[in-house]
Amino acid sequence: MEMYDAMFERFGHQGWWPGDGPLEICVGAILTQNTNWANVEKALDNLRNAGAMSVAAINEMDHDALAELIRPAGYFNIKAKRLKNFIACVSASCDDDIGAFLSRSVLALQEELMPINGIGRETADSIILYAAQRPTFVIDRYTCRILVRHGLIHPEDDYEQVKDIFESYLPEDLDLWKDYHAQIVAVGKEFCRPKPKCAGCPLESFPHDCSEYQ
Ligand code: SF4
Repeated sequence: MEMYDAMFERFGHQGWWPGDGPLEICVGAILTQNTNWANVEKALDNLRNAGAMSVAAINEMDHDALAELIRPAGYFNIKAKRLKNFIACVSASCDDDIGAFLSRSVLALQEELMPINGIGRETADSIILYAAQRPTFVIDRYTCRILVRHGLIHPEDDYEQVKDIFESYLPEDLDLWKDYHAQIVAVGKEFCRPKPKCAGCPLESFPHDCSEYQ
């Protein structure tokens, strides 16, 4: 909590996840893999402007047409496939009703999302935390880099081990978990890069060692 407080004091509440409703958040979580958010915004705009921001529209859309709309997000053919896989799952299990799909428990959502081709652990947890509004902690490369450098995890620890640290030590508070991950991303983008900028980082006063981990 002390680390969170230090980041919050610097950056303020991050208001994550940007997106207009649960479907857009899910689509954004899938499109944001390996690209920056500005590119995702352009792809989301294209989908909105084409009247394609619905489960039914994406499900019915031809792969090439969908790939063209999301082209700004990069890796558009792969991402179109992933998006279609996700949407097909929602459509098959909840008859196009994204609200019903997301109303399940964390465990049920993990079981539904994890087998979808192209939805990794981080994307599944992002959808559960930010779109379904269920408490699950999201781990990404920034989280691992910061925690290793601060001696809180080992570089070889896996996703579940890192996630367990947050979920065991923090109070179960949906807004805290949502904003904690957002604060970590802010630190990771601005300071804790492969070449760290510890001077001026909000976590500078916490013990750290950047000598080995990139
Ligand atoms: S103080 Fe250094 S190691 Fe710690 S988060 Fe900031 S940049 Fe990374």
